[in-house]
Amino acid sequence: MKKISNFSLKKNNSFGVESVASVAYFPSTIDDLIELSGLNLSSFYILGEGFNTLLVENQSPIIVKPEFKGIEIDEGLNCTIVKAAASENWHEFVGFCIEQGIYGLENLALIPGSVGAAPVQNIGAYGVELSQYCQEVLWFDFETESVIKYQHKDCAFGYRESIFKRELKNKGLIISVTFCFPKKWTANLTYAGLDHLPASTSSKEVMNEVIKIRQYKLPDPHKLPNAGSFFKNPVIEHDQWQTLISEFPNMPSYPQPNNKVKVAAGWLIEQAGLKGYKAKGVGVHEKQALVIVNYEADCGEYVASLALYVRRQVAQQFNIILEPEVRAVFSKGEYNLTEYKNG
Ligand SMILES: Cc1cc2nc3c(=O)[nH]c(=O)nc-3n(C[C@H](O)[C@H](O)[C@H](O)COP(=O)(O)OP(=O)(O)OC[C@H]3O[C@@H](n4cnc5c(N)ncnc54)[C@H](O)[C@@H]3O)c2cc1C
Repeated sequence: MKKISNFSLKKNNSFGVESVASVAYFPSTIDDLIELSGLNLSSFYILGEGFNTLLVENQSPIIVKPEFKGIEIDEGLNCTIVKAAASENWHEFVGFCIEQGIYGLENLALIPGSVGAAPVQNIGAYGVELSQYCQEVLWFDFETESVIKYQHKDCAFGYRESIFKRELKNKGLIISVTFCFPKKWTANLTYAGLDHLPASTSSKEVMNEVIKIRQYKLPDPHKLPNAGSFFKNPVIEHDQWQTLISEFPNMPSYPQPNNKVKVAAGWLIEQAGLKGYKAKGVGVHEKQALVIVNYEADCGEYVASLALYVRRQVAQQFNIILEPEVRAVFSKGEYNLTEYKNG
């Protein structure tokens, strides 16, 4: 198995901060994964393309960076089945499907990262989530050294949630993701920004529109390092929402099941007066308050400190606790950022 010692991660995380792993493993076959299991690593981090990862410390845990490639297409009766290996690039995969006349993922265009990371937080954008098309996830289990198929119903998908992020964290890794795309396709144009398009809009046109909006709204991580939305949109109780909405009638709100309401984290941060706030070379983006950007810091600690500051300010003003969407990685592995420095 490919292995590199003293592996610098500066080019492997979208905050562009420096952090070094004593060793990084790059499994690309099942035999490599069996070898990896045999090492009984006590702490490690599975890294895709690092677009949802904050390396908080200068020293990283051992890195496992899968290198599984390939896409297979199978024609079913009503569905086209597409299996993509974990290390394929997500956006290229979306474009590839559309070029092949396989539609469904157009609303998820330009989400940076790998196919293997996509089920972990059940990526979503513009009214579509990966879970809508994900049929099965192929998983390598480190303990039994075997490949397990997780059907859609076993993946416990939710809003930025899945079994891979919770119960299965560090117990194995995703080798591939299989999608089922119904042959009868209609554009999903329900989301604000796409709702002006006619129902006849093609999949490629939807993708191009999504790309256009995203390029306008979000800072390009290659030019201004960031990891997209830093926090999840909080889901609050209806009673608390009612109190808030009477004070802030313009607060964007989305009713959820169980008498709960999802509110926009970016709006809360903006209302807390933090849009454009800067400290120690990092800041809250000037146009999109949900995005923390790295202007010139070389260490992730400053990003972590700012995120915790934002969280405290929002908690003080709205009594709402923001939960990070970005994975925080410390020298001993991935931990909840909010436990860091009593955040
Ligand atoms: C500008 C920008 C915009 C974004 N917009 C969106 C958006 O609209 N919607 C959205 O949902 N997300 C968005 N994101 C977040 C990010 O794109 C996704 O989370 C993406 O899936 C990250 O992929 P990655 O390969 O870079 O993951 P990484 O950051 O490398 O890893 C993320 C998590 O997945 C785990 N992981 C990675 N690969 C595997 C594997 N093979 N097996 C098991 N676990 C694995 C890691 O351990 C980690 O917990 C955005 C990010 C940026 C920078």
